[in-house]
Amino acid sequence: MKYISTRGGIAPISFSEAVMMGLATDGGLLLPETVIPATPDEIEAWQRLSYQDLACAVISRFADDIPAGDLRELIDRSYATFTHPEITPLVEVDGLHILELFHGPTLAFKDVALQFLGNVFEYLLKKSGGRMNILGATSGDTGSAAIYGVRGKARINIFILHPHKRVSPIQELQMTTVTDPNVFNIALQGTFDDGQAIVKAIFNDLPFKEKYALGAVNSINWARILAQVVYYVHAALKLSGPAGGVVDFSVPTGNFGDIFAGHVARLLLPGRIGRLILATNENDLLARFVNDGEYSLGKVVQTSSPSMDIQVASNFERYLFYLYGQDAARVRAAMAGFGASGRLAFSADEHGQVRRDFAASSVSQAETLATIAAFYRQGYLLDPHTAVGVKAGLEFRRAGIPLVCLATAHPAKFGAAVAEAIGREPDLPPALAGLAGKASRCEVLVAEIGVIMGFVEQNAL
Ligand SMILES: *Cc1c(COP(=O)(O)O)cnc(C)c1O
Repeated sequence: MKYISTRGGIAPISFSEAVMMGLATDGGLLLPETVIPATPDEIEAWQRLSYQDLACAVISRFADDIPAGDLRELIDRSYATFTHPEITPLVEVDGLHILELFHGPTLAFKDVALQFLGNVFEYLLKKSGGRMNILGATSGDTGSAAIYGVRGKARINIFILHPHKRVSPIQELQMTTVTDPNVFNIALQGTFDDGQAIVKAIFNDLPFKEKYALGAVNSINWARILAQVVYYVHAALKLSGPAGGVVDFSVPTGNFGDIFAGHVARLLLPGRIGRLILATNENDLLARFVNDGEYSLGKVVQTSSPSMDIQVASNFERYLFYLYGQDAARVRAAMAGFGASGRLAFSADEHGQVRRDFAASSVSQAETLATIAAFYRQGYLLDPHTAVGVKAGLEFRRAGIPLVCLATAHPAKFGAAVAEAIGREPDLPPALAGLAGKASRCEVLVAEIGVIMGFVEQNAL
């Protein structure tokens, strides 16, 4: 299986090369040349597999340059850190199927991908004799999941910038109590945007990037998408029954990463995945794209589901490549136009295709809180991101078709928003309750590019 860029500017590369490249060198995103649908016999066999066995079966189709035994070992190690035996269990509440993706070490769905990515990085670096210094900025969730993905790993150091005292106390503790020598937390005296701008500027300094073998863990890495395809396949096959039948999914969306994984799963499992419901909070760029056929930047507003407070969906270009009939020249031209105008328009035919691929809704803060309260009365506590997905899912629910709502975070991670909805803070699970007394390590630095570069230079591998 070879990988190509959505902008057509690179020769086809292997899975391993695609993982190490992250963003394609022509500025595009990497995708497999083809997604070969599973045969009915394969689907039947997959229905009997454990999560880990299914992960091997799905991932090996796209990662054929990693020997099967090695891949098995990487997958086993990646999901040994999860506290639920089914890894991503389904829970039925009021006829809905909640897919709990938060049983990993940081209690958010990003662990499913980043536990795997950390192990793949370590494996490939050992093979090549290389090293990597990961640099990233976080507003909360991604930082801790990335840190837990690579803590203690050989040949990798990680530097994560978070805005000083502007992440939740739990999010701060989740990052700073990881004291492995390869983990460097930087509390930046500035905003998340300051951190992101500094990281971007450092990555644009190509000699510096080369010299320190800088790597990224943002959601554009193909290995992250691939790891997420597995739970869609797992849930769809559990609910669609031996004779087939479709299952719909509702997905709280920010960067379009998770829902794009659903799109790949749908290509892989013909006739098993029906509608993908794209749920956004008040940052409704993607909902407007689906409903109005226009992709245009808005202003970011702060909501109670902060991991979806995004106005540029970095994985959107992958879907655009399919929508444009895999015409890389058109994607390249469209992204150049978007860079200049902040806007993309679509033909009636294309908009029709988008509406066949997705349904979408933008969910307000009030609706989010009301949904948390309503489900709490039925004995199930939703986190605000999950509640956005559940609310949108209910709008598009179809009679007789199972609906899976992706639960992307544990409610205790967003205690303040949950308390607003139900009048009390959620109970802390053991993984969070133990954090307060732990030793922590963090460097507070001023938000200047030279200062951050200096710190990386001093501590890089
Ligand atoms: C990152 C995140 C999302 C959004 O996922 P995307 O892949 O960016 O669409 C939703 N919920 C939570 C809790 C997250 O951390």
